[in-house]
Amino acid sequence: MHPFAYTRTRDTREALGAGGRYLAGGTDLVTLMRAGVEHPDTVVDIAGLPLRGITGHGGLRIGALVTMAEAAAHPGIRDGYPVIAQALESGGPPQIRNVATVGGNLMQRTRCAYFRDVTVGECNKRAPGSGCAAVHGRNRGHAILGTSASCVATHPSDLAVALTALDASVHLDGPDGARTVPIDGFLLRPGSTPDREHALRPGELITAVEIPAHPGPLRSGYLKVRDRQSAAFALVSAAVALHIQGGVIRTAKVVAGGVGTVPWRLPEVERRLVGERPSPGLWARAAEVAAEGARPLRHNAFKAELLKRSVERQLRALGGTE
Ligand SMILES: Cc1cc2nc3c(=O)[nH]c(=O)nc-3n(C[C@H](O)[C@H](O)[C@H](O)COP(=O)(O)OP(=O)(O)OC[C@H]3O[C@@H](n4cnc5c(N)ncnc54)[C@H](O)[C@@H]3O)c2cc1C
Repeated sequence: MHPFAYTRTRDTREALGAGGRYLAGGTDLVTLMRAGVEHPDTVVDIAGLPLRGITGHGGLRIGALVTMAEAAAHPGIRDGYPVIAQALESGGPPQIRNVATVGGNLMQRTRCAYFRDVTVGECNKRAPGSGCAAVHGRNRGHAILGTSASCVATHPSDLAVALTALDASVHLDGPDGARTVPIDGFLLRPGSTPDREHALRPGELITAVEIPAHPGPLRSGYLKVRDRQSAAFALVSAAVALHIQGGVIRTAKVVAGGVGTVPWRLPEVERRLVGERPSPGLWARAAEVAAEGARPLRHNAFKAELLKRSVERQLRALGGTE
C-alpha cells in the first residue's frame, strides 16, 4: 500500500483544513487503497465529527456519519420513507452496514471490475485518457443509460437512487463555507471526464442529506434485482414514491438504479402516471417507456426489459389497483 499520513479530529473546521482524503467507515476507501486504486498522501479520519444525528419535523435530516444500519432502523425513516430503509437494507451484508456511513455510501466508487483492477491498463476513471476496457469487454453489469465513449460504469449506491426519488438534497461544508446541492445533479455523468464523479469541490465534506417534507402521505418502496440475495449490487433497481389522493395519482417519482452511470430518473414514466387512476393497465403503460434512450452494450441488453418489468412490478406493489 502507498504510504500515507493519518490524522483524526473531532472538529469539523479542523477536518476541512486538513487537506486530505476523508475516511468515514472505511469500507470502500480502505479496500481501494489496499488494491492500489486509491493512493492518498493524507487520510483524515472523520468518524469522530458531530455528524451523527437524524432529526426532522416533516422532512428529515440525516447526518453524514449515521451508519447505514442506524438509518435503516430509524422509526422516522421506516415509517415515513420505507424506500430509504429498503434501499439501505439491500446494500451489503450487516457487517458492512454497521460501519458504512450515509456520506460514504454516496461517495463510494463504481464496482466496475476494470476500474478496481490496477493490472488493467484501460480505465478513464482511474487513469484519464487510457481508454475504457468495459466498452468492448465483459459488460453485463454495466450501464445502458447515461454512458459515453469514455465510460460505461454504473454508480453502485442504492441509497442515492432512493434519495433521488425523494428529491433529497446534500448538505456540504468546505473551506469556502457551507452550501446545499440537490441530489439530482450531485453525482455526475461521465461524459469525457469520468474521473470527475461528483459535485464536491476540493476539501468539501458532506455533512448531511435532507429529505424535504412532502405535502401529502407518500407510498414509497425499493425493488432491487440482483444475482444473489446478499452482498450483490443491483442489476436493476427501481425506487418509487407515489402520492395518491382521492383515487388519483398526484405526484409520482420513479428512479432506476443499476442501469445508469448515475441514479436514473424516469420523467416520461412519471408523466404517464400523474393525474391518472391506479390500474394494472396504467402500470404497464407507464413502465413501457422506462428504458427509453437506452444504449445496451454487448452483454447487457437484457437490462432494458428487466428495467421495464421491475418498474411495473414496483408500481403495482405500491399503487395496487384502487
Ligand atoms: C461486500 C460489500 C457489499 C456491498 N454492497 C452494496 C450494495 O449492494 N449497495 C450499496 O449501495 N453499497 C454496497 N456496498 C458499499 C458500501 O455501502 C460502501 O462501501 C459504504 O457505504 C461506504 O461508506 P463508508 O462510510 O465505509 O465510506 P468510506 O470507505 O470511509 O469512504 C468512501 C468514500 O467516501 C468519501 N467520504 C466518506 N464520507 C464522506 C463525507 N462525509 N464527505 C465527503 N466524502 C466522504 C471517502 O473519502 C471515500 O472516497 C457494499 C460494500 C461491500 C464491502
